[in-house]
Amino acid sequence: MADGYRLKTRNLILATGLHTSSLMETIDNEELRREIPTTYFAKGSYFTQSGKVPFSHLIYPLPETAGLGIHLTLDMAGGARFGPDVEWIDSINYKMDPGKQNTFCNSIRRYWPGLADNTLQPGYAGIRPKIVSQGAPSGDFKIYHKILNNKAHLLAFFGIESPGLTSSLYLGKIITRTVC
Ligand SMILES: Cc1cc2nc3c(=O)[nH]c(=O)nc-3n(C[C@H](O)[C@H](O)[C@H](O)COP(=O)(O)OP(=O)(O)OC[C@H]3O[C@@H](n4cnc5c(N)ncnc54)[C@H](O)[C@@H]3O)c2cc1C
Repeated sequence: MADGYRLKTRNLILATGLHTSSLMETIDNEELRREIPTTYFAKGSYFTQSGKVPFSHLIYPLPETAGLGIHLTLDMAGGARFGPDVEWIDSINYKMDPGKQNTFCNSIRRYWPGLADNTLQPGYAGIRPKIVSQGAPSGDFKIYHKILNNKAHLLAFFGIESPGLTSSLYLGKIITRTVC
């Protein structure tokens, strides 16, 4: 590693979400470093609704450039959450901005005009690891595979944003097929 630390392993799998690019940079190998995509951060915030919503299904508006749009998801208890939006950030922070309430209301009212004022509360935020920058067309996942000098497999997963969770079993299969 760049800090002098030596790691002896048969295979190295970097599946560290937001940190895969920075972690791979710590490997002391110029050739590898040249192939690391930049990871950009796109925060997605959710607001929740205090009252009951008159829907029993999810609602997806037309997608935006870098996300699915502020859609409605229902949890197992019938609670409603709206989101996520897309906010490009320079460093990782999960702070919610309550001031986004108006922007959220305007988006939601396009498919639910009856949304009452002041009924949304800040919920939570997540961060997408994107390997395309703001304004660029959506990218795909990048799965980097290299067999190193000592025959060890290096697999690194970049840009595993939505639908990363949905794809997780298949991504796992790629790992087992490659290294087992
Ligand atoms: C707002 C939002 C909405 C989403 N919606 C959907 C959706 O509807 N459907 C869908 O399929 N996907 C969705 N996703 C995407 C999904 O959440 C991700 O694709 C998935 O969580 C990625 O999994 P991962 O294991 O690659 O990374 P992560 O879940 O980020 O896990 C990486 C792990 O690596 C650990 N780690 C990091 N650095 C190190 C280190 N140096 N050493 C050891 N461990 C380390 C972290 O602690 C973490 O536990 C959404 C994501 C966001 C942000």
